[in-house]
Order: sequence, then structure tokens, then C-alpha cells
Amino acid sequence: MEILKNISLKDKNWFKTGGNSKFFCEPETEHEFVQAITFANKNNLEIFVLGDGANLLISDNGFNGLTIRPKLKNITINKNMVMAQAGVAIQDLINFCLDNNLLGIEDFSCIPGSIGGAVYINIHYFEKFLSDYLINAQIINSKTGEIIVVNKSWFNFGYDQSKLQNKNYFLVSATFELKKCDNLEAAYAKGRRDEIIRYRQRQYPTSNSCGSFFRNFHENEVSLEINGKKMIFVAYYLDKLGIKGNLKIGGAQVSFKHANMIVTDDTAISQDVINLAKEIQNLVFKNYGIKPVAECQLIGFEENIL
Ligand SMILES: Cc1cc2nc3c(=O)[nH]c(=O)nc-3n(C[C@H](O)[C@H](O)[C@H](O)COP(=O)(O)OP(=O)(O)OC[C@H]3O[C@@H](n4cnc5c(N)ncnc54)[C@H](O)[C@@H]3O)c2cc1C
Repeated sequence: MEILKNISLKDKNWFKTGGNSKFFCEPETEHEFVQAITFANKNNLEIFVLGDGANLLISDNGFNGLTIRPKLKNITINKNMVMAQAGVAIQDLINFCLDNNLLGIEDFSCIPGSIGGAVYINIHYFEKFLSDYLINAQIINSKTGEIIVVNKSWFNFGYDQSKLQNKNYFLVSATFELKKCDNLEAAYAKGRRDEIIRYRQRQYPTSNSCGSFFRNFHENEVSLEINGKKMIFVAYYLDKLGIKGNLKIGGAQVSFKHANMIVTDDTAISQDVINLAKEIQNLVFKNYGIKPVAECQLIGFEENIL
């Protein structure tokens, strides 16, 4: 596997902004993944594992280490268990499962990204979390390159949370337990998938965004109650501020489709997104006394930039 130097990350993430990575590689096998980690550790390089770039913002200064973009793309089935490697696209896994009469994860249709990125943040849609289906996974130690198998409890999954976020391990593959169904049920599920895709394409930006920029609040962070329930949805506060489709800094703008989604145009740089996010945080704090926290992963920035 070739380790490339000074590679642009701008064309490898959904915001289409950001600088270069000092080193870059795309392992296609577990062995190559281990080689990449060994290279980074021998050369004292920080590691950043990139998926499809649908939930991150890369600094305009780039990343001064080794970016590993896993291209491990195998999917295997054993009865109602499906194993997908880190580089498999979420939608490809959903389609594969439906073609093989396996139900469950089709609710995540149209969520962009790879299995690695999906497990890292524990993707969610309404009440469903990817962790509802995960049984076990292969992970690789970021210091030793050792690959081990862990079960679901290792991940300490929560809303927007998994132990992968400590960056001590990266995901190599994950196994999901799904429900076996007959052809008719699979046909209905495919219809539901297609409807979710149509709905989401109307509802959310289809490019140049990271999806929700801020995570929802935890109950203990907010005091506003509506109908006796704490208002945890950050989009509620952003909608009230009237910033949807309006607020713009440089080439970054709040989407006209969704108040918690920032979109970029061809002129945007990552600093525009940061400046806009800061402005949104200031507005929410001024009006509601709470500060939204980024769900978007910030790569190559100094800590606490937001
Ligand atoms: C239009 C749009 C709509 C979206 N809607 C939703 C939604 O409804 N629900 C939802 O939950 N998310 C949503 N998202 C966010 C995004 O799709 C998910 O977070 C997705 O899982 C990102 O996967 P990725 O491969 O692109 O990860 P990346 O953006 O490439 O990486 C994200 C993080 O995961 C880490 N990572 C990636 N691969 C690995 C690995 N193998 N091992 C360890 N860490 C890894 C990266 O280092 C980074 O910190 C949306 C995004 C967009 C653009």
C-alpha cells in the first residue's frame, strides 16, 4: 500500500473545504490497516481515520499527520447476522440487507457515510440508533495495530456517543443482528426505504453540509419546558431565531431547508463555517442562555475552537 504525501482533503469531505493531509493512505485489507498504523507510530504521526467525510469539518491548514481512509468494503452474511467492514457505505449495507431479506437498518436510509463513521457517532434517526443492531465488532489499537473483537457493551453507546471517540481504537468491521423476513416483507421494506429517501432529499441538503451541525441538548442543560417536557431539540431554538436560510458568513450559510444545517458554496473556506457556527452559538446564548455543542467533528483545529 502506498503512503501518499500532501494530499488534498477538500475533495474528500461533504463541506468541500479544508486543506491537505501531510500523509494519506487507503488500506484495502486488515493487513494494510495494520501497516498504516505501524507507519504512523514509527514516524510519530497523529492518525485521523476518514470515512465519507459527511460529519466533519477539516481545518483550512489541513491535517499534520496520517489520514487513513479505510477501503475495506466486504459484507458477509451468516443467517440473520451481517458483517460489514469499515469502508462500506451505509446505504450499500442497507440495500444488501434488503436484497437478502434482512430487516431493521433500512430506517437509516439516505444517511450518508461509511460504517466506520456510523458506529463512531452511533447514527440515529428519530428513535432508532445503529447500536440497537450492533452485536460485536473488530477494532484496531491505534498504538499497537493489534486487532481484537469486542462486543456491544465495550462501546458504551449513547446519543452521539461511542468509545471510539477516545481515538485509542478504530473500527475495522461491525456485525449486526437483523430480522429475517419473507419476500413480501422485504418488498414493503424496500418501499419504505424509497419513501424515506424521497422525504429526506426534500427535507435536508443533499451536498455541501455535515448534516446537523450541533447536537441536541441533554435534559440537564436546558430549562425551557413545552407541554411538561424539556425542549432538548437544538433546531427548535435555531428556528425561533429565524436564521434558517438567512444567516450567512462568507461562503457558509444556514440551510433554507433546516436551521441546524450549515451549507457551503464554491467560495467557502472552513473558517467561514467556524465563524458562522460561533455566531449561531452567540445568538442562542444571548437569547436562551445555553450554548449549542458541535456534533460535527472538527479535524486539525486547536481544541475548544467552538
Ligand atoms: C445531509 C446529511 C444528513 C445527515 N443525517 C444524519 C442523520 O439523520 N442521522 C445521523 O446520525 N447522522 C446524520 N448525518 C451525519 C453523517 O451522515 C453520519 O455521522 C455518518 O455516520 C458519517 O459517516 P462518515 O463515514 O462520513 O464519517 P466521517 O465524516 O468521515 O467521520 C466522522 C467521524 O468518524 C470517525 N471515523 C470514521 N471512520 C472511522 C473508523 N473506521 N474508526 C473510527 N473512527 C472513524 C472520523 O475520524 C470522524 O471523527 C447526516 C449528514 C449529512 C451530510
